[in-house]
Amino acid sequence: MLKVLKFGGSSMADETQYAKVKAIVDADPDRKVVVVSAAGKRFKDDHKITDLLYLCHAHKKYGVSCDEIWKMICDRYISVRDALGLSTDIESEFAVLREKIDSGISEDELVSRGEYFSARLMADYLGFEFVDAAVWLKFNLDGSVNEDESYQTLKKIVGGHKVVIPGFYGVMPDGAIKTFTRGGSDITGALAAAALDADVYENWTDVSGFLMADPRIVDNPETIKQITYSELRELSYIGAQVLHEQTIFPVREKKIALNIRNTNQPDHPGTMIRESFAEQEAEDNRFITGIAGKKNFSIINISKSGMSSELGIVRKIIKIVEKYGVNVEYMPNGIDTVSMVVDSVKASKCLYQMLGEIQEEFNPEKIHVTENIGIVAAVGRKMASKAGVSGKIFARLGEHGINIRMITQGPDEMNIIVGVDNKDYDNTIRVLYDSFVK
Ligand code: ADP
Ligand code: ASP
Ligand code: MG
Repeated sequence: MLKVLKFGGSSMADETQYAKVKAIVDADPDRKVVVVSAAGKRFKDDHKITDLLYLCHAHKKYGVSCDEIWKMICDRYISVRDALGLSTDIESEFAVLREKIDSGISEDELVSRGEYFSARLMADYLGFEFVDAAVWLKFNLDGSVNEDESYQTLKKIVGGHKVVIPGFYGVMPDGAIKTFTRGGSDITGALAAAALDADVYENWTDVSGFLMADPRIVDNPETIKQITYSELRELSYIGAQVLHEQTIFPVREKKIALNIRNTNQPDHPGTMIRESFAEQEAEDNRFITGIAGKKNFSIINISKSGMSSELGIVRKIIKIVEKYGVNVEYMPNGIDTVSMVVDSVKASKCLYQMLGEIQEEFNPEKIHVTENIGIVAAVGRKMASKAGVSGKIFARLGEHGINIRMITQGPDEMNIIVGVDNKDYDNTIRVLYDSFVK
C-alpha cells in the first residue's frame, strides 16, 4: 500500500506545524511520499513565503532593494531548522541564491525556492530522501506536463524509498524552472500519486475537508464526507476552492482516491473523493452534496421568433462572443430565446460592440442584458434519481422572497443552477443550506 501526502502552506508554517506533519507521517508506514508547499501564514496578518518571494523579485525588477524581505525569508527557514535541531546547511544555499538574485534570476525560479527549502528541511526532519521536482516533473514547450516522461522518471528515482518532494514547480525542456499557477503544489501531489500508482492521495490542509457551503456565508457548514470527482468539478468550477482546479485530472485518470484532511485535526476523516460510491455507502439521504456560487454575472437574452428552426444560429452567436474573448458560462435556452450567462467584468469592455455585431448579423426582435446577477449551484449526484427536486428548490426560494432570474440544469441532472440578483446571493445560499442540508 502506498499513500502520497501533500501538506499545504499552513501545515508548513513553523516548527509546531512540522511536528504535526511528522506525527501524521510516522503514524502510518504506508505514508511514504510527502509533497510540501512553501511556509504559509502563522497568524492572520503574517506573510506567505511565496508572496515574499514574488515581492522580492518585483523589487529587484524595479531596482529597489529587497534586503529586508530577503532577511524575512531566510529567518523563517533558519528559525524552523534551529528550533527542530536540524543540521541542513541552508545558509550556503541562501548565499548562492542571493548571488543569483543580484545577477538576475527568473521569477519562476525565485518563487519556486519556497517549496525547495521547505522540502529540504522536511526531508531532514522526517529522515526521508529529498527528491527535487526539477529532476522529474517535466513540462512540454506549451506549458502542459509531459506525464509519460515525468511518471517514468519519478518511478525510477523513488523505487521503494521514502521521499520528500517540493511542490509547485518543474522544468521546461531547456532545464529552466517553471511553476504552476498559485496553489499548484496540489497538482504536484496529484502527479506524484499518479506516477507511483498510489492507493490514496491525502491532501492535508487547514480545514477538515470540503465544506458544504462557503463558511463566510453559512455558519459552521458541515463537511462533505463523500463526493465524486464530477461533483467536485462542478463545485470547484463555480467557486468553491480548496484544491487547485487542475488537481483531480491525474488522480482521476488512475482511479486514485483523494482524501482532504486537516493537519490540525488529524483524527477527522475529512472528505473522500472518488469516481463513484455504492448506494449503501451513503450515510444520509440528502440530495444536495454541496452548494457554491459566484457573484457578478450578466445574462444576455436574445429573442427572435422562429429562432429554433434557423440552422446553426446558436453556434454563430457563440462565435461572435468568442471573438471578443468572452466565455459563455451557462446557456439556458428557450424556443425563441437564446440566453448567455457571462462574467460581467470580462464582458464589460466589449459588451456594446459585441451586441451591436449580433444585432447586425441576426436582426433579433429583442436583446436584453440583466446585470448584477449571482449564480448559485446546488450539486448532488443523488438529484438525478429524485423527482420534484427543482420544484422544492424554487418553492423554498419563493417563500423567502428570492426572485429567480435564470434556471438551468446540467444534462446529467447533477446540478441545478439558479441566477438571482447579487443582493439575494448570500440569502439564496443560506436558504438552500437551511432547507436541504440542516
Ligand atoms: P493549503 O495552503 O493547505 O493548500 P488553501 O488555503 O489553498 O490551503 O485551501 C484551504 C482553504 O480553502 C481553507 O482554509 C478555506 O478557507 C478555503 N475554502 C474555500 N471554500 C471552501 C470549502 N467549500 N470548503 C473548505 N474550505 C474552503
Ligand atoms: N506556494 C505556492 C502558492 O502559494 C504553491 C502552493 O502553496 O500550492 O501559491
Ligand atoms: Mg492550496
